Amino acid sequence: MAKAFDELKKFLDEKRDLHYLLSILNYDIQTSTPEKSIGRESELLSKYASELAAMEKNPEYIRLVKRSYEEEKDNPRREKLLRVALENIEFMEKVDLETYERWNQAFQKSNEMWRIAKKNDDAAIYLPYWKKAVEASREIAELRRKPGQKTRYDSLLSQYEPGETEELVDSVFNPLRDYLIEKFPFVMKKQEKALFPEIKAYDVNHQRELSYDLLKLISYDLDRGCLRESMHPFSDNMSKDDARITTDYSVEDWRSNLFTIIHEGGHCIEFQNWPEEQYADYVEGSATAALCETHSRFYENIIGRSKEFAPHLKALCEKDLGEEFKDMPLEGFYNLLNQVRPNLIRCDADEFTYSLHIIIRYEIEKDLINGKIEVEDVPAIWNKKYKDYLGLDVPNDREGFLQDVHWSDGSFGYFPSYALGNIYGAQILNSIKKDLPYEEILKNGDMAAIRKWFAEHDFAYDYLDPVAWINKVTGEGMNPKYFIDYLEKKFF
Ligand SMILES: [Zn+2]
Repeated sequence: MAKAFDELKKFLDEKRDLHYLLSILNYDIQTSTPEKSIGRESELLSKYASELAAMEKNPEYIRLVKRSYEEEKDNPRREKLLRVALENIEFMEKVDLETYERWNQAFQKSNEMWRIAKKNDDAAIYLPYWKKAVEASREIAELRRKPGQKTRYDSLLSQYEPGETEELVDSVFNPLRDYLIEKFPFVMKKQEKALFPEIKAYDVNHQRELSYDLLKLISYDLDRGCLRESMHPFSDNMSKDDARITTDYSVEDWRSNLFTIIHEGGHCIEFQNWPEEQYADYVEGSATAALCETHSRFYENIIGRSKEFAPHLKALCEKDLGEEFKDMPLEGFYNLLNQVRPNLIRCDADEFTYSLHIIIRYEIEKDLINGKIEVEDVPAIWNKKYKDYLGLDVPNDREGFLQDVHWSDGSFGYFPSYALGNIYGAQILNSIKKDLPYEEILKNGDMAAIRKWFAEHDFAYDYLDPVAWINKVTGEGMNPKYFIDYLEKKFF
């Protein structure tokens, strides 16, 4: 008898094709679609998105997933693929169409009102709609909750980071939070005396040259990807030979594009270096958000803001932006890459304070989903935490709790990924250093060697759940000590 998985492949191929098509449409809309055609292209996008969603309800597909799951338990990649597929099927079986519609509308309306509220700095018009989205998220959390998950939030968290719990995240975030709050004023004090050269404006054409040179430098394969511009930068693992990037140029501050390119390029280096068997078993792209952020943030911060790599970046700035970089002392250039200051906006935060922005969001969303607080309480709690942790007065909700899109459409449980990425990254750095003369390699700019290490020791296992993955890559469970040591060494 034929194995069920062989029969299932026709559905998996179809899903893969639809995913590629949707990604192409989305990339086009974000970067190049003419204004008057955006409506038409968006219609195409929702048409094929519905086709993809409908497959989850196809009885033949469901039957084959259930049978394959029993047959393929010994193949870790297929086990992962089928386990996730099965969880989605089981969840959808519990939900009637009416409830599903009600949730979708709650999220859509809340997201729509968030846009208006943020634009006008008017939280009051948003809160009643957000309340409904939060209630929907609580219902989903209860329905998805598995034995062993102590709280509702555990259930949402494990949607993004399977197997992780509040207890585990608390055990790494709490010591990190206390360390950052205590040390932050000292870093600021130390930087008062440091040399910070002037930041000059550079036009988009010069910065674009720099973008391509940076991508080549970090070993991104330009024959299997491309770079365009969009309002919000992103990267997408569209298909096996197609991992695309976007950026957004700030004429006033060249650092913004430089780090965007290294960050998004870092994401794509992971996408471009998955082994063949991940494609054969359809698990390409099943790395969790925290794993993906580990790699992008490793390239952006651990490599991109390092002393060893700074001369390479400075040389490219001199070549593409202007001669003035030649006269700039290396120390001043390095300081510009590592300027620490309190900032109200998460996306503009420096490497030192970034995790505090995430921890504030984590602490609030956890209490909100678990029912310890309600949406009406959030603005005041937000402002108090920004004062207590970062010493900042929040002047308005637009720059306060309304700044991020995540909460408006019910993406609760996603924020921790960003800070977990920092913690995993420093832990992996420790492992790389055991295997390679890492600092030498960075000084020589031999980025292919770094890419090769990641491909063999890390990307090859990134379909695993985070707990299993970090153990495989570093030989131990998640440990915040490495990130704290890294910050200590770098900033003191
Ligand atoms: Zn990212």
